[in-house]
Amino acid sequence: MEYVSTRGSAPALDFRGVTLAGLASDGGLYVPRAWPSFSKDEIAALAGLPYAELAAKVMQPFIGECIAPDRLLELTNQAYGRFAHKAVTPLKQFDETQWLLELFHGPTLAFKDVALQLLGLLFEEFLKNSDQHLTIVGATSGDTGSAAIDAVAGRDKIDIFMLHPKGRVSEVQRRQMTSVIAPNVHNIAIEGSFDDAQAMVKRMFADTAMTDRFRISAVNSINWARLMAQVVYYFAAGVQLGAPHRKVAFSVPTGNFGDVFAGYVAAKMGLPVERLVVATNVNDILHRAISTGDYSAHGVTPTDAPSMDIQVSSNFERLLFDAGGRDGLAMADQMKSFEASKAMQLTNTQRDGAAALFTSARADAGQTVDAMRWAWDNCREVIDPHTAIGLHAALETKLPAGVPMVTLATAHPAKFGPAVEKAIGEKPVLPPRVGDLYEREEAFSELPGTYEAVAEFVAERATPSPL
Ligand SMILES: *Cc1c(COP(=O)(O)O)cnc(C)c1O
Repeated sequence: MEYVSTRGSAPALDFRGVTLAGLASDGGLYVPRAWPSFSKDEIAALAGLPYAELAAKVMQPFIGECIAPDRLLELTNQAYGRFAHKAVTPLKQFDETQWLLELFHGPTLAFKDVALQLLGLLFEEFLKNSDQHLTIVGATSGDTGSAAIDAVAGRDKIDIFMLHPKGRVSEVQRRQMTSVIAPNVHNIAIEGSFDDAQAMVKRMFADTAMTDRFRISAVNSINWARLMAQVVYYFAAGVQLGAPHRKVAFSVPTGNFGDVFAGYVAAKMGLPVERLVVATNVNDILHRAISTGDYSAHGVTPTDAPSMDIQVSSNFERLLFDAGGRDGLAMADQMKSFEASKAMQLTNTQRDGAAALFTSARADAGQTVDAMRWAWDNCREVIDPHTAIGLHAALETKLPAGVPMVTLATAHPAKFGPAVEKAIGEKPVLPPRVGDLYEREEAFSELPGTYEAVAEFVAERATPSPL
């Protein structure tokens, strides 16, 4: 499988290359040159497989010869063996149409673990017989940071620098990052919003003073391997609910557009997806883009769903590229002008391409609370604010009769305990796998919100590597 950049001028790479690279050198994101596809029989044959086996089957076409099938299965068994639920991503039923796909049974309690537990192993696999050293630089709105740090802490040949917006992540999220004390883990609390932090990370990928010395890589969902690992649970849920013989819809709490884009990929591969609902909070640029074609960033408003407090959604570029006719050079122009003005209009082709599968909905603070109460009152189910935004969107969406709607439960409610308790009067309990989180010592550095400060910090601590 070969991967090309959404901006048309970076070299094509194989799976190993895109996994280690993260962002393309032209500022674009890597996507497969063509979507692999499964026949109905192949999809039907996925039903009933253990998650790790299903994962290896769904991912193999993207990996090609970079990892042999037997080895890939060993890696998926290892990655998903750390999950606290045997089904890894269990489905729960709310009522005759509404379902919940629990993606938070990994070590750090959010769906990010599903991809990052595997990504940590992929990095190690690809570095083991080389003299390269990886410098991972990432920005987190809360959950990527903890999941990535858990996945790479203590590994040789990898340093991780993780930027989080100071004071804008939940206490559990912060502690899960800053209480991992390992020589290769560097937590940075930075002034500003997640978007500011993400812009700095992107700038570092384009800064040759850094990229000439260090092999800089990404664990954000700009890294293709993460999206690939997320395609798996759409298939897992789909076949449980009757695919390929029955269509399924998904409602996805969305920030950086990675998770819902994985659903788009599953549909491209042949999973019969009726609808993908992009659920946003009041930071609703994606809702506006999908419903009206207006992709313009306003300021970020902090909410009880901090992992979705994002305006500039990196992975949206992958959709615009694919749905808009795959013209890399036109995409480069469109994105450059967006980066300058923070506003753009989707082309008609992009809008129509998106409308074929996506709809969107937005939940404000009151609607988020109402959805948490709906789940509690009707089903005695405690859900977190991100999941509640997805559920709100799911309940608002009209579907043809007989199509099940699956809301992705992206975080464990205990990760956002105070907001949940305020909504339903019940305090969610932290699962035992997080251990003595509140007793552990924290370590992090604070930096001003300037690129120069971050670049200097990284350059002083990272290990230079041949490229
Ligand atoms: C990251 C995250 C999201 C948003 O996912 P994207 O792939 O960035 O769209 C939603 N909910 C939770 C809990 C998250 O951690």
